[in-house]
Parts: sequence; C-alpha cells; structure tokens
Amino acid sequence: MSKIRVRYAPSPTGPQHVGGIRTALYNYLFAKKLGGDVILRIEDTDQSRFVEGAEEYIIESVNWCGFDFDEGVHKGGAYGPYKQSERKGIYIKYSQQLINEGKAYYAFDTPEELKAKRIEAEVEKSTFKYDYLTRGGMRNSIALSADETQKLLDDKVPYTVRFKMEPEQNIVVDDMIRGKVSFDSSELDDKIIFKSDGMPTYHLANIVDDHLMKISHVIRGEEWLPSSPLHIALYQSFGWDVPKFAHLPLLLKPTGKGKLSKRDGDAGGFPVFPIEWKDAETGDVSKGYREEGYYPDSFLNIIALLGWNPGTEEEIFNLKELVEVFDIKKVGKSGAKFDPDKARWFNQKYLSQMPIEEIAEEIKLDLEKREIITSVDLFAVAAQMKERVAFVKDIYSSAKYFFETPKEFDAKIVKKKWKDQSSEIVKGLIHVFESVKEFKADLIEDGFKKYLNEKELSFGTAMISLRLSITGIGGGPSLFNIAEIIGKQETLKRMRENPKRINDLKD
Ligand code: GLU
Repeated sequence: MSKIRVRYAPSPTGPQHVGGIRTALYNYLFAKKLGGDVILRIEDTDQSRFVEGAEEYIIESVNWCGFDFDEGVHKGGAYGPYKQSERKGIYIKYSQQLINEGKAYYAFDTPEELKAKRIEAEVEKSTFKYDYLTRGGMRNSIALSADETQKLLDDKVPYTVRFKMEPEQNIVVDDMIRGKVSFDSSELDDKIIFKSDGMPTYHLANIVDDHLMKISHVIRGEEWLPSSPLHIALYQSFGWDVPKFAHLPLLLKPTGKGKLSKRDGDAGGFPVFPIEWKDAETGDVSKGYREEGYYPDSFLNIIALLGWNPGTEEEIFNLKELVEVFDIKKVGKSGAKFDPDKARWFNQKYLSQMPIEEIAEEIKLDLEKREIITSVDLFAVAAQMKERVAFVKDIYSSAKYFFETPKEFDAKIVKKKWKDQSSEIVKGLIHVFESVKEFKADLIEDGFKKYLNEKELSFGTAMISLRLSITGIGGGPSLFNIAEIIGKQETLKRMRENPKRINDLKD
C-alpha cells in the first residue's frame, strides 16, 4: 500500500473554530496511527475572502493543542509550495488540459446575462442551472463555433472555465464513515473551475493539489460531501486515482439544533475558538479556550470526542493514547452536539490530575496578576481546591477566604442559617481553639467536637456558624483544613471580629 498522506486544507477566511481544529486533529490521528504524514495546505484561491492573520492563527492553535503537521506552509516539504496562491501556474495548465480534451469549456456569459437567466427561471418558478440541458443555449465554447470562440479569446473577453459534467452517471463516493453515497450526475451543474480573475476555484485547486501532493485520504467536514461527486468526476477526467474519503459530522449547537456558531458561544458564555481572535476591522474579540484557562491537553481531549468515541466508557486520553485508539470507522455519521458543561468537566479532570506543585505555581501567578499578597501555603490550597474547580483562576473567586479576611457574608445563608445562639457558639469555640497547641486540622476538629459534646450543641448549627465567621460563605473544603491553612492567629481574629458583622447584617 502506498504511503498514507492526509491534509488539512483550510481557507484563511477567519479564525478556525473548534470544528476546524477537530478536522486537523482527526487527520493527524489517522495519519499517525498508520505511520503516515499530515500536511497543512492553505487554500486561498478566493482572495476576496482572505483575512490577514488567519493562517498564523491556524498554526498557533494547532501547536497550542500539542501537535503539528509534517509538511506545510510553515515548514516546507517536498510537495510545496503549500499555499494555493503560490501555485497559480499549475492550475492554469490543468484547466487547459481539460479544455483541450473537451472536458471543460470557456464560458463568456457576463454576470448580467447569468442574472437574467436566473430571473427568467424564477418567473417560471424554477431555478436556473448551468448544466447539460442549458449549456447549449449559453455563450460558451460548446455553443459557439471554434472561430467565434477564438475571436472572443483574442479580444480578451473575460471568461470562466466550466467543467462539462456528463449526465446520467452514477457517481459513488465511498466514504469511510458513511459507506457508499450515490449521486446522479444529471443533477449536478457545470461548475466553474477557473475564474475570470485568473485563479482556479476551490474545486480544481483542491483536486489538483491532492493529486500532486499524493494525498491518499481526504478527511474533511460533512459540508464538503455534496462537492465530492464533482471532485471524483474531475479525478476521473484526468485519469487519476481517487483518494479515499471521510466526511466528518457537523458540530451542532448545545441544543442539538443547527450548526455550532460563534453566536452560540457568545450567548452561552463559552468559546467556540481554540485561541482568542481579534477582528482587525471591528476590534471584536472572540474568546478562546486557551485564554479561558483550558489546558491544551484537556482541549485536545474535548475535541477528540466530538463525534468519535473509542466504543468504551473511557474518556480521558492524551495525544499519544489518541493516536493508538483512534479509528475513523468509529466516527459517527450524525452531528455531534457541543456540550460546554462537558468541556468544563474535562478541564476539571485534567486539573485534578495535575501535580500539586504545578497547580500551586499557577495559583501563585494568578494571585500575582490580581496583586494579592499572601503567605498561606499554596500547596495546601491547591490540594484542597483541585477537585472543586474547573480552572485555577476560579480558586480565587470561589475561595477568597484563603487569602483575605471576608468582608462580605453570603446574605442568603446568613438569613437561613445564622441563629440567635451562633455568636455564642463561635465565642465559646475561640477559647477551645486558643488552647489547640499545634494548629492542625485533626486537632482543631477534636477540640471542636469535644466542645460540642460537652455543651450538647447541634453539630449543624455550630459548623455553619463557624464557617460563616471564617469564610463568609456556606460551602467549601473541610473547615478545619481551611483553619489550619490560614493559621491560628487569622482564624481566631475572624472568629472574634466576624460574628458582630454577621449580626449587623441580620438586623
Ligand atoms: N478549503 C476547504 C475548507 O476551507 C477545504 C475542504 C477540503 O478539505 O477539501 O474547508
């Protein structure tokens, strides 16, 4: 079998959203599992849609995820150039070849003439299609005589080149995910393969490059499935081998209805882009997973499971493991719902498995950014919080009490749980805690329990009263661990000062 070569072929028309990166990843996994190569080709034939920075964005996103291409715009290779705008001359030659062989033709129809045809059809409640039925009545080298055509060419009348789609053929796309999908060529139109601006269209450039770059498998989004019969017809016209196809399922909105878009992310408060993107014209910023605090490994894991699963319950995979278990045949046919909660869940899993010292270092950086100075043991904070948050930056917001005396108290909990005897209980506990010599969680807890027994106090009331006094909120890790981490002096200070503040709030 010839070498496995796949490609990711984005058009640089803006930032690639999660779906694009998933396509790149599936290409990578497929190739690496079979010892093949993966190529990055930039398909920029539509210059009017070119967006500055989009190409760099793709490379940066993929590299952030932790993988790379073997060949491409950014690193060269034996089949370059890898940017279609640098390959113009190649496409002209192939377009000419099809014309010479009568498989494509010059079309001189002006935009106005085409518009008139469309309007005419609309009046008759139909749609105009430039195909085997209509091409004879249009201004093209099939309808015109050779002399007429030559004259128009000599006069430099602008033209496009159209592919002459032969009718009544059954074109079968043998898809690795979908099986055999048949198309009736009579339904297909004569697509433009070369534009009047001297550039090929996507279709021609795409198949010429896939052939010249020796691409064995085309793995791309489902939206390209309708183009594949044309691509197959083009390969056949040149007498080239047709690569194998796999059309990946669409990424759907969290509701499952419709394609996932940037708007869904904006509305749902989650990013749909791997890394942040700033629109140069509008200044609009699209949020990125990287900037939101997602770990690259977790992001990679999230996108790997969008439409594919290994057929087991296992969900946590690193890149190496993904390469081992990935199987394109296990990619689903139907759209994959994007679940932002599940994305957070993945990051939580990755965070909880990280070494404590790394989490502590991240907390340190986060606190520095917030200009918060603290002397608490960040290793201990990391150990207490790693199971409780999805992002390190949430440690500060959900557990400020580690770093500063609470200034606010959760009014709802105070109203519900702070009882008349709460102040008294906390006061009594001050004496107990003062006498705890070694201020360790288990010893603090022993003192607390002994006191409650002696005084026959309710555990629940005592606990929440103490928690509100020390942390200001109703939940969190073990209060005795918190007390140990913030230290004896700070714990006692809060127990002395805060009950009064809470009482004031209650009045
Ligand atoms: N340039 C196309 C895109 O933007 C590539 C489609 C394909 O992979 O054939 O997605």
